[in-house]
Amino acid sequence: MTELTAPKSSVTAAQFADEIRNELKYTQGVTPEQAKPADVYVAAATAVRKHLMDSWMKTQQDMINGNTKAVGYLSAEFLMGKQLRNALLNSGLTEQFEAAVKELGFDPQQVTDAEYEPGLGNGGLGRLAACFIDSLASLGVPAFGYGIQYRYGIFRQEFDEEGRQIERPDYWLTNEDPWGHIDYERDQRVSFGGEVVEEDGKRVWKPSWSVRAIPVDYMVPGYESGRVNTLRLWQARSYDEFDLLTFNKSEYLDAVKPQVKAENISKILYPEDSTEVGKELRLEQQYFFASASIHDAIRVFYPNQDKPDLTTFPDKICFQLNDTHPVIGIPELMRILLDEYGYDWDTAWNITTKTFNYTCHTLLPEALEVWPVALISKLLPRHMEIINKINDQFMHELEEMTDDEAKVERMRIVTDGDTPSVRMAYLASYAGEHVNGVAELHSQLLKDVTLRDFSDLFPKKFTNVTNGVTPRRFMKLANPGLSDLITEGLGTDKWLEDLELLKNLEPLAQDDEFVKKFAQVKYDNKIKFADFAKREYGFDIDSSTMFDTMIKRLHEYKRQALKILEVIATYADIKSGKVKIEDVTPRTVIFGAKAAPGYYLAKMTIQLINNVAKVINNDPDVMGKLKVVFPWNYNIRVAQYLIPATELDEQISQAGKEASGTSNMKFALNGALTVGTLDGANVEIRERVGADNFFLFGMTVDEVEKMYADGYDPAKYYEADPRLKAAIDMVAKGTFSDGDEDTYAPLVSDWLTKDWFMTLADFTAYHDIQSEIETLYGDQLEWNRKAIINVANSGYFSSDRSIEDYLERVWMTGPLK
Ligand SMILES: *Cc1c(COP(=O)(O)O)cnc(C)c1O
Repeated sequence: MTELTAPKSSVTAAQFADEIRNELKYTQGVTPEQAKPADVYVAAATAVRKHLMDSWMKTQQDMINGNTKAVGYLSAEFLMGKQLRNALLNSGLTEQFEAAVKELGFDPQQVTDAEYEPGLGNGGLGRLAACFIDSLASLGVPAFGYGIQYRYGIFRQEFDEEGRQIERPDYWLTNEDPWGHIDYERDQRVSFGGEVVEEDGKRVWKPSWSVRAIPVDYMVPGYESGRVNTLRLWQARSYDEFDLLTFNKSEYLDAVKPQVKAENISKILYPEDSTEVGKELRLEQQYFFASASIHDAIRVFYPNQDKPDLTTFPDKICFQLNDTHPVIGIPELMRILLDEYGYDWDTAWNITTKTFNYTCHTLLPEALEVWPVALISKLLPRHMEIINKINDQFMHELEEMTDDEAKVERMRIVTDGDTPSVRMAYLASYAGEHVNGVAELHSQLLKDVTLRDFSDLFPKKFTNVTNGVTPRRFMKLANPGLSDLITEGLGTDKWLEDLELLKNLEPLAQDDEFVKKFAQVKYDNKIKFADFAKREYGFDIDSSTMFDTMIKRLHEYKRQALKILEVIATYADIKSGKVKIEDVTPRTVIFGAKAAPGYYLAKMTIQLINNVAKVINNDPDVMGKLKVVFPWNYNIRVAQYLIPATELDEQISQAGKEASGTSNMKFALNGALTVGTLDGANVEIRERVGADNFFLFGMTVDEVEKMYADGYDPAKYYEADPRLKAAIDMVAKGTFSDGDEDTYAPLVSDWLTKDWFMTLADFTAYHDIQSEIETLYGDQLEWNRKAIINVANSGYFSSDRSIEDYLERVWMTGPLK
C-alpha cells in the first residue's frame, strides 16, 4: 500500500512532532501536557504553513520572473472548507501528522475537528471557486484567488421547536485563524462617493470617503505539484484617526462611526443564493474587492515602477469574473488606466477587453444583477461616466453591425426608462474577451435565450466550460475507503492527478469480488455517517436502509418540495394500506439545506420537512421503513460525511433552471446513483455513465417551455394523480402542523395556483421512477455494479479538467515553467 501513496515529504514523524512542540511552546505558550486538541490544531497548522513557505515564495518569484500569464480568479465567495487535512494531503505530510499527534498523546480526529470551517460562500458558486484554485495550484498554473475576508460568513443554521430555520451569526474569526496571513504593508486604498470635476480638460474624481483594504493571504498548495498559490482575501479597515476630541466628550458612538462604516464593508457575506438583492452595501463590497485586487495585480507585476507599461498587463494576468459580482472591475480598470496612468480611451479599452472574461452562473432572469444608475452615480460617479461612455460606444458599434433597431435597444448596457439601470451581465458580455456557461446545456441556453443577442453578434466570444470538483477533497479526504479501493483496483494513485484514469475501473464492475469490496466501503461509510449523525445531531439512523440524499441550497427551482411530497405520498400509501409494509424498501431520506433568511417559501419548506420528519419518525406504522432526517447547518464538513455514504442522489430541479450543479458530480464520483432531470450537468453525467446507470425522469427544457407557453395549471395535476392529491391534502389539513390548517397555507396555495417550477407536473413521473429504483436496490450486486460504472465514468468531472478547458478556451495560458 505505502509505495502506491503519494511521495511523502522528507520530514519524519518525529521531526514533525518536534515542530508541533515548538509551535505549542513559542506560539501558544503551552506544554504538550497543558495543550488542548485546539492548541495542537493551531500548532500543526502553523507548522504545515512553514513547510509550504519556500514553495509559496518560489511560486511567486517564478510567476513574476517568468513569462507565464497568471490567472486572477475574482469571486465574491470562496467556500474553502477546513484547511488542515487538505494542506497535509497536498504537501505529503498526512502520515507524519497522524503519527506525531499520536506521539504527543492526541487523537488526530479530535485535532482536525478543532478547526472551525470558514463559511465564506453560500453554495455551489463559492465551492466552485475553491475547487478551481485547488486545481490551478495542482496543475502548477500561477494564480490568485481574489475575494473578501468576511467577518461573518454564511449564517449558522439551527431549527427551533416548530422546525423553523433560525439564523445565527457565524463567529468564525473569534479564535485567531492560523491560515490567514495579514499583510499590513501591502494594503490598498479604495474610495467612494464625492464628485467628478473638470480640471485642465480632464475628468477628476474627488471621492468623499475611503477605506483601507488589507490583504489576508491564504496559501493554496497544489497536490504534488510543488506549487503554492495565493488566495488573497481583503479586509476593510478605517483610515480615520480615532477622534479623540469627540471621544473626550464621551460621545463614543460618534467617535467610532467612521470605523464602523468602513469595517461594515467586509462585515458580512450576503446569505443570498441565486437571486440578487439590490443593496448599497453589496455594491460597496463588490467595488471594494475588485478595485483592491486590480491595484494589487499591478503592484505585483510591476514592482517598484512609477510609470509601468500597462499595455503589457493582459500578458501578465487575466481576470476571471465569477458571475457578475466583480464586473464593476471593468470600469475600474478603465478608470485606473485613464485617470491614474493617463492612457487614452482606445488604449485603455484595448487593454481592458483583453483582460477580463466572464462566467455566467444562472438562467434565472431575476438573478442577473442590475444596479440603478442613481446608486452607481452616488457611490462611484466616475465609474458611471465611464459606463455611460462604454454604453455609447457599444450602441454605435451595434448600429454599424445591424439594422435591427429593436435588437440594439434590447442590448443597452444602461437602460433608460423610469429607473435607468446598468445590466452587469451585458457589460461583462460586451467588455469580456470570453463568456462561458458552466455546463453544455447551460451554455447552449445562454446562447439561445439569456444572452442570445450577444451570441448572435459575437459568436466567437461564447464558449462552455463544464464545472468540476476537486478529487482531492471530495474523494481522497472525504472517502478514504473508496480511495484506497480505487488505488488497489488501478494499481496506482495517479488517478488523483488524472481522474480520467478511473475509466480503467470499469471492467472491475463485472468482478464480483471487487463489487463486494465496493459495497463494503459504502456500508462502512454509511455507518460512519450514522455515527456522526448520532454524535452531532442525536439522530438514530439504521445503516441497513437505503440512504437517499438531497443536499443543496433550498430553492423552489431545485424542488425539495417534489421530494418531500413523494415522501408524504409514500407515507399516506402505507397508512392507508394501499402499499403493503413488507413491499416498502426501507429508506432514510436525508435533507441538508439552508434557505436565504428572506426567502419565505423556502423557509416554509424547511419547516414542512422538519415536521414531516417529526410525524413520520414517531409513527409506529412506518417505523423501520421510512425515516426523514434533516441535519441542520449543511456545510462542507457535513457534505464530506454524507456524500460518501449516499446511495441515491437527488438532482431533481426543473429542467433548464440548474446551470450545472456540482453536488451531482461529487455523488457520481463517490458511487451514488442519481435520480434526476435532464438539467445542468446531469445531462453530461448521464451521457458518460450511460442511460442504464442513471434514473431519468421528468419534463425536458422544451417540454417545460411549451408548458409555459400553453399556460400551466398545477391544479389539473393535483386532480389527476390521487397520490399527489392525498399528499397535498395532508399538508393542507394539518397532518404536519398539529391539525392547524393555516401553517402551510401559503405553500399549498402556491402549489395549487402558481407552482412556477412545475413540481406538480413532474410528480407522477418522479413517483413512477421510484419502483425502478427499488427494484434495482433489491439486487445489491447490480446496484453496486452500476455505482462502480458511475465512478469509472465520472473522471471528466474533475475540476482539473475544467481548468484545462479554461486554459485552452479562455485564458490561453498554462503551467509555470
Ligand atoms: C457542492 C456543494 C454545493 C453545491 O451543491 P449543488 O447541489 O450543486 O447546488 C453547495 N454547498 C456545499 C457545502 C457543497 O459542498
